[in-house]
Amino acid sequence: MSLRAAARAAARLPARHVDDGAHAWRFLGESCDVLCPRCDRLGVVRYLRTDDAPRITASFHCHGCHLDVRGVPLYRYASSVLPGVDWFGPCCAQGERSCGHCGARGLGYCRRLDAGEAYAMHRVQVRCPGCRHESELTLSVLPMGDNEVGHEPATGMRLARSEPVMQGRFVWAYNAGHQAELTRYVAARLREATVVANAGFVSRLPAWLKSARHRKKVLAALARIERRMSSNEE
Ligand SMILES: [Zn+2]
Ligand SMILES: [Zn+2]
Repeated sequence: MSLRAAARAAARLPARHVDDGAHAWRFLGESCDVLCPRCDRLGVVRYLRTDDAPRITASFHCHGCHLDVRGVPLYRYASSVLPGVDWFGPCCAQGERSCGHCGARGLGYCRRLDAGEAYAMHRVQVRCPGCRHESELTLSVLPMGDNEVGHEPATGMRLARSEPVMQGRFVWAYNAGHQAELTRYVAARLREATVVANAGFVSRLPAWLKSARHRKKVLAALARIERRMSSNEE
């Protein structure tokens, strides 16, 4: 869609947007549109809610390569992930403790692992900067969020609805409902907040995305996502 067509489409949307304080995660709802981490095919992560812990779990099945991921908790509370098993986004292998020889604090190790990078190492040898003594450090693998490009929050899978607006800047949504809300917000000329600052998903959006100067480009990117999604459904 051209910029002009995107502007015309925006003109048909309501001019007023009210921020009711909804956090982006609220828009997860039942599902999130993702790209299969193994074969890139369009797929859906579905959420199952139960009364018992862990309350909300995510599942994914790819109809192309049959990758099957089940029962991944949405809220992990900083527990370790298994890259390629229950986490498919970037993560970080890290560990920290004090030196067992001289007692100095801060023997640390941290290495970023890119999505899909094979990972088998759970212990590393580190040398104390004080006494030069070598000791073994046990590592945890923690998920790393990427708020710029966006990712499915339980599994780290890439979002199907993520699109560059300009150099290094992306607009993204979890699903059709989230995208519709975002589109209504960006298209609105008068934006009202009914809640305190930073409580809602809208107030957390980056400033460049909220800027009227980028409205046409953002709407055009949202329209490209919509077109790509509907051509995939056919
Ligand atoms: Zn697949
Ligand atoms: Zn030491």
